[in-house]
Amino acid sequence: MSISRRKFLGLIGSAGVGTAVSNSVFAASNKHFTGYPESFAVLHDSVRCVGCRQCEEACNKVNDLPEPDQPFSDASVLDKKRRTTAKAYTVVNRHDRAKDGIAPVFNKTQCNHCLEPACASACFVKAFKKTKTGAVTYDASVCVGCRYCMMACPFDIPAYEYDNALSPKVVKCTMCQPRILEGKLPGCVESCPREALVFGKRDDLIKIARNRIARYPKNYVDHIYGEHEMGGTSWMYLSGVAFQKIGMREDLGIKPAPELTSGALSVVPMVAALWPVLLTGVYAITKRKEKIENEEKNQAVNSAIKATKAVAELKIGEALAKAEKEQEEIVEKAVKSAVDNAVKANTEEAA
Ligand code: SF4
Ligand code: SF4
Ligand code: SF4
Repeated sequence: MSISRRKFLGLIGSAGVGTAVSNSVFAASNKHFTGYPESFAVLHDSVRCVGCRQCEEACNKVNDLPEPDQPFSDASVLDKKRRTTAKAYTVVNRHDRAKDGIAPVFNKTQCNHCLEPACASACFVKAFKKTKTGAVTYDASVCVGCRYCMMACPFDIPAYEYDNALSPKVVKCTMCQPRILEGKLPGCVESCPREALVFGKRDDLIKIARNRIARYPKNYVDHIYGEHEMGGTSWMYLSGVAFQKIGMREDLGIKPAPELTSGALSVVPMVAALWPVLLTGVYAITKRKEKIENEEKNQAVNSAIKATKAVAELKIGEALAKAEKEQEEIVEKAVKSAVDNAVKANTEEAA
């Protein structure tokens, strides 16, 4: 596989990347973390992005997601603002900037793989982990489906498989962790025809981004989004217009999530300890509900049987009465006919 150096910085020659990073993880739950200096990251340059959505298509393919309702080549999809879903781990949105006298700007959204993720802070069973590669991973086997991670994420990223009735999971971009561990590029980065996405060591990407801003000051705002937001993220962005104008939050500050939520998190051990009790309560309520539902169902069936029986009895009664009446009329007729015949016979004999 030939990989463009501009798309793949820092990893070239690191054949042992998988073994180097696979076992070590950091659960950014309750303590301050300054980031893995050697971790990987992605830089999205919205000045280069043309909104072709090939990154979306590649993401769909590498994650084996269902086909979208409209094909990836259908540009009308960009007429509406979209967010990530259980079937689309990344979306590209178009921001019309005619007011600024410039062409539309496209930005790509997916999990930002925060250095200190709010999702991990909020998850008391530690389903989310910041790993040494830079990816924030999710372990469905321990997830209890409380969806606190979805509420906690400042970027509104994790989605839930509401359509999956049996084993719904929280889903989001994986940063293509399995591919990274194999020494490959994330699917979206590999597919981008404009090199609007670059993968490499986070520190190197920050240098590249600074260099672009310095060389083309007219093309870029002097800000690398994600360098410091929420304590820093592993996906970073460059833009030619204020980030807020392309749908990105500029009100988040630079404090990492665990610092912001440390007060709230002090209740987590209590919640964790109470969880089995809560689950038992929920189970009992569910069972009670089921019992009531069953009782109600039985009652309804019994009432229906009774009603049907009553109607049937009434109909049978009516039918019997009718039959009885008809029978009486037949007998009456027969008797009358017999009496008539007898009278006639007597009259004939007498004559
Ligand atoms: S593939 Fe590259 S140019 Fe195309 S939409 Fe995605 S990031 Fe933009
Ligand atoms: S962007 Fe949201 S889901 Fe992704 S790591 Fe950060 S807090 Fe978690
Ligand atoms: S890194 Fe992988 S999972 Fe994340 S948006 Fe790109 S292709 Fe999708």
